[in-house]
Amino acid sequence: MIKKTYPGGKTKAFNVTYDDGVLQDIRFVTLLNQYNLKGTFNLNSGLMENEFEWIHESGKSIKRLSKEKAVPLYQGHEIACHTLTHPYMNDLSEQEILHELQADKANLEKLFGREVKGFAVPFDYYSERIESCVRQSGFSYARISQESRSFMPQTDFFNWKATVFHTDSQLEELTRQFIETDLELAVFQIVGHSYDLDVEDMWDRIENVFRMIAAHDEILPMTTIEIVAYLRFLSGDNQP
Ligand SMILES: [Zn+2]
Repeated sequence: MIKKTYPGGKTKAFNVTYDDGVLQDIRFVTLLNQYNLKGTFNLNSGLMENEFEWIHESGKSIKRLSKEKAVPLYQGHEIACHTLTHPYMNDLSEQEILHELQADKANLEKLFGREVKGFAVPFDYYSERIESCVRQSGFSYARISQESRSFMPQTDFFNWKATVFHTDSQLEELTRQFIETDLELAVFQIVGHSYDLDVEDMWDRIENVFRMIAAHDEILPMTTIEIVAYLRFLSGDNQP
């Protein structure tokens, strides 16, 4: 039997999907680029003025990236929506949900000059009602807040689970398991916010994971939308 692979005959896909577009993404993207890896960055276009700031529970000040800094920084990586203003979506009417999704998509497409097809759910409020709004708004996938803790390719594109949250104590162990797995079309996707790397003092841990991944030629760095589009293509669903 012939095993299915990713483009170039690669057997594994690796992606990081990071939320909120914060200042620490500058250091994070520099690290990704150093190891030739690909990220998906989930942005709130309504919170990109004046380095919008909030105080994390650790007491650290967290600032958003301005549009001027974001546009050159994320070149070569995926831009995805994370709603206009990061609301609790369960509290919103359908009209308000559609506005949060569609205005963010339109703003990001205009700002970055490219199509934006991905969506990452803010907080962990998601429901069939919200999923229906995401589908109506022209997205190809919705990344939810639960982890898969598995390297199996996801099949429900509108309830897409990344593998593991980056602060997990098992992060390095899962990376080792991913490198060793012979699962068909394996996917390893790390989810987080780059400010956690400051708060938890774990820049060395994430760099160690990147170094392990980059040392393996069978692993293809991909964005989330590239993985979704490829899985759709393999399943015979050519919807963009
Ligand atoms: Zn968020």
